[in-house]
Amino acid sequence: MKSNNFLKKIINSNLFSKKFINRLDNKGKILPKIITRFPPEPNGYLHIGHAKSIFINFGLAKLYKGKCNLRFDDTNPEKEKKEYILDIINSIKWLGFNLKYKKKKNIFYASDYFKKIYNITKKLILFNKAYIDEQNIKEIQKTRGTLIKKGINSPWRNRPIEESLNLFKKMRKGKYKNGSLCVRAKIDMLNSNINLRDPVIYRIRHIYHYKTKNKWCIYPTYIYAHPIEDALEYITHSFCTLEFADQRPFYNWVLKNLYKLKIFKKPLPKQYEFSRLNLTHTLTSKRKLKQLIKQNIVSGWDDPRLPTISGLRRRGYTPKSIKILCEKIGITKNNSFIEYKILENSLREDLEHKVPRIMVVLKPIKLIIDNLEKDKIINCIAPSYPKNHILYKKKYRKFLLTKNIWIEKEDFSENPSKDFFRLSLGNKVRLKYSYIIKCTKIDKDNNNNILAIHCIYYPNSNINNLNKNKYKVKSNIHWVSKKFAIKIEVRLFNHLFKNPKPNLNDKINKNSIEILKSYSEITLKKTKFKKIFQFERQGYFIYDKINHTIENPVFNRIVPLKNNIFK
Ligand code: ATP
Ligand code: MG
Repeated sequence: MKSNNFLKKIINSNLFSKKFINRLDNKGKILPKIITRFPPEPNGYLHIGHAKSIFINFGLAKLYKGKCNLRFDDTNPEKEKKEYILDIINSIKWLGFNLKYKKKKNIFYASDYFKKIYNITKKLILFNKAYIDEQNIKEIQKTRGTLIKKGINSPWRNRPIEESLNLFKKMRKGKYKNGSLCVRAKIDMLNSNINLRDPVIYRIRHIYHYKTKNKWCIYPTYIYAHPIEDALEYITHSFCTLEFADQRPFYNWVLKNLYKLKIFKKPLPKQYEFSRLNLTHTLTSKRKLKQLIKQNIVSGWDDPRLPTISGLRRRGYTPKSIKILCEKIGITKNNSFIEYKILENSLREDLEHKVPRIMVVLKPIKLIIDNLEKDKIINCIAPSYPKNHILYKKKYRKFLLTKNIWIEKEDFSENPSKDFFRLSLGNKVRLKYSYIIKCTKIDKDNNNNILAIHCIYYPNSNINNLNKNKYKVKSNIHWVSKKFAIKIEVRLFNHLFKNPKPNLNDKINKNSIEILKSYSEITLKKTKFKKIFQFERQGYFIYDKINHTIENPVFNRIVPLKNNIFK
């Protein structure tokens, strides 16, 4: 990671001071010196922002030979589902991280601690650090005050400890309706930090939980459960995003009091914040992504236009490209938008030398080589990995030139500007890996649309011919033999939002997907299609995992080439 990684500095200084050395767990086993956790709520699929957090938490644990727990923060039963759990596990594995530590699974669930958290809360009530409030949520919000207005004590704040304890037990037994009672931490309604004005730590929810089913009808709040879960798992560094900075005093308040109650030992976990990853032209919030799906703007969580891990994966992004992105942006404390281009460049960086090249004509127009006999077939050969110094000489592909070929519509111009060096009437270009051709005439229909382009070829201009330099051309264009072409469907994607810093109300880009009927050189078939390719002069493409079949191949463009001239 980048040298500006301040989290590494913190860990290094903790290691230097031996803060977390020789700690034992409750079974007397020695604990790793560094334990982090990645704590998603299973209320949606993971997105690129979570990938940053995964690379930080799992990445740093790996770097320091520690451990990182995946912990599902499933304290909000309304929104949580098993489907999301599966996506989260798959996404982390796909990004390259192991979900085992010393052969044991390191996947945890906040819901597995419900009983412990309940018992701890009873102790907190007994310690006069929590009480049952009978105000409803609106009253609680109203009396909490604002940045300039102090809060007001609840009339129930000083009720006898025993009374609170009894009510809490009855709450658990399901004696009260949703929202009629709640547990609040007893801190300070006059505190300048609103988060310390007696926050709600338990609420009643008579609702089915995907894991604990109907066992519980009271649930701890995330802000309260989080420090307890961290301490129960012996977390050393609790890394989270900046919006939690205001909650840090409460995080510390919980742990300090549970330490006083001898529930947890020192050294206690500590929270550190870093900035969220926001990408331009897209949304990185599960809640907002869910809206796009609900409104049928996209096909689902794995739509290739979404920045979800499953969408990026289907689009063709590699785990390495996402890692490169996270390394490039580093870890800072300033929230900002990262240019989408950086992600695209990261993929190019990963794939440039790795994937084979082929020629595919995306938007075809017919070209006839008039001086080539009808049935003549000319063998052509091209390196598959021209930029890879090891594979360059080893891996070749073969394809055929015939009288009728497809070229890219945009490689021909009827009215060429001065700087248009590709094909135009009277002009010469090289067909990549093959001969030089000259355009002689064009066929048009009654509506002035071009039906075919006519050319002649120069038989001694082949790329391997000694006379090839006799012909000066400024351009190489890709092409595919009409007779041997493979028909494929290609999907090109554009940003969902034209606005670089979008929100949900912004207009959706109507052209975020373009579906083309294209033609590929025959090589594609030999690979059984199942690879990432560079389509020459176009970009990086991969078969679509949902819609592709051998009979009807479908390819997604991951990203165009950096200097792509095609629209
Ligand atoms: P969302 O707003 O998308 O629902 P969240 O913060 O509620 O995100 P959680 O499931 O609570 O999502 O997140 C799990 C972890 O991932 C948290 O530690 C959170 O800080 C981190 N995280 C979430 N979004 C981002 C992001 N955009 N950049 C970096 N880290 C993120
Ligand atoms: Mg959340």
